[in-house]
Amino acid sequence: MSWKTLDDMDLRGKRVLVRVDINVPVENGRVTDDTRIQRIVPTLHDILDKGGKPILLAHFGRPKGKRVQDLSLLVVKPALEAALGRKVVLAETLEAAENGTDEIAAADVVLLENIRFYPGETANDPEFARRLSALGDVYCNDAFSAAHRAHASTEALARLLPCCAGRLMEAELSALEAALAKPERPVGAVVGGAKVSTKIELLENLVNRLDLLVIGGGMANTFLGAMGAQLGKSLSEPDFFETAKDIMKQADQAGCRVLLPVDGLVAREFAAGAEHEIVELGAKTVLDDDQMVLDAGPLTVTLLEDAFAGLKTLIWNGPLGAFEIAPFDTATVAAAQAAARLTREATLISVAGGGDTVSALNKAGVADDFTYISTAGGAFLEWMEGKTLPGVAALGG
Ligand code: ADP
Ligand code: MG
Repeated sequence: MSWKTLDDMDLRGKRVLVRVDINVPVENGRVTDDTRIQRIVPTLHDILDKGGKPILLAHFGRPKGKRVQDLSLLVVKPALEAALGRKVVLAETLEAAENGTDEIAAADVVLLENIRFYPGETANDPEFARRLSALGDVYCNDAFSAAHRAHASTEALARLLPCCAGRLMEAELSALEAALAKPERPVGAVVGGAKVSTKIELLENLVNRLDLLVIGGGMANTFLGAMGAQLGKSLSEPDFFETAKDIMKQADQAGCRVLLPVDGLVAREFAAGAEHEIVELGAKTVLDDDQMVLDAGPLTVTLLEDAFAGLKTLIWNGPLGAFEIAPFDTATVAAAQAAARLTREATLISVAGGGDTVSALNKAGVADDFTYISTAGGAFLEWMEGKTLPGVAALGG
């Protein structure tokens, strides 16, 4: 990887175009979760400390190339100012930024209005990127979560100015490289969640690169079903039985051990505290028509704990059960705590990502113990699928 960081750049007196992700949740005109804003603060402080002037490029919602007043970044400005401890000036239009009003010229930090108000953004239009490039001297991309999109502010712009990764991008890329590109072996993954159909490319890439793959959650039902199990009304995708068999074959050829649940929590209704029993799972399992597997069982958890103890690196995407409703969060929480403990003891590097995975790990109380938890969603998954991310490639990575 050959991308530069802020350490490699001379920023004194330079205008630094910084692509950030501040696409935060807002309710009644207030930011309800400022996590994404907090995460870009180190980058912006570094740029300011080095004598640079940050000009932020960011999207907010999906205005689809039109000015939509409800999707103005004005609503995010107070939270940004609070996090930075600096005043931020919103440039309401590209023209205002180009003409440089007195206020913009005097500002410590400039925030360009929602970049997706312009159709050139998602079209990755070279002319639009050229206009953006004229606003700065240096480009810094700190939005890994947008790097799977080839948009003007994530891709074309990087080719027009001296460029580098911001601190958050740097942390994300370093963690993902440590997990998958050159991991300490043995390296394993937990892939859980709802469906095989959404994670085929992920599974195919992982079995060819890992020593161990744990399959859990609803998708494990599809693998067990492919082996002949009849799992009642469990979440399962019979259309993907062949895919599941093929992935098992690829794993076998690549020398990747696959671990499927050997027991599960089975209930007849999906409700908090639903009556449930522990059932052994395997190719010969036959459940009643109204029964469903909603979580992995205790024996599976023990197997996972033992397997984790033999790993140096663990990647995690997808919960082991329907973790939103107790007690079907039990296996996910127990396995997450085992991974957290090994990480604290410094025998394991643990990297996790995925929307529901992040909530599940928060629920398990291990968010601070994992080596790295990616909040990048789609970009994290595409990286784990082995795809080249346009925003990273454009940085020279
Ligand atoms: P992520 O967002 O982390 O990539 P997914 O979206 O793939 O994860 O999967 C999360 C969903 O999978 C959760 O809503 C969870 O309830 C569901 N799930 C996991 N195991 C089961 C199961 N056995 N039956 C039904 N749903 C399940
Ligand atoms: Mg999800």
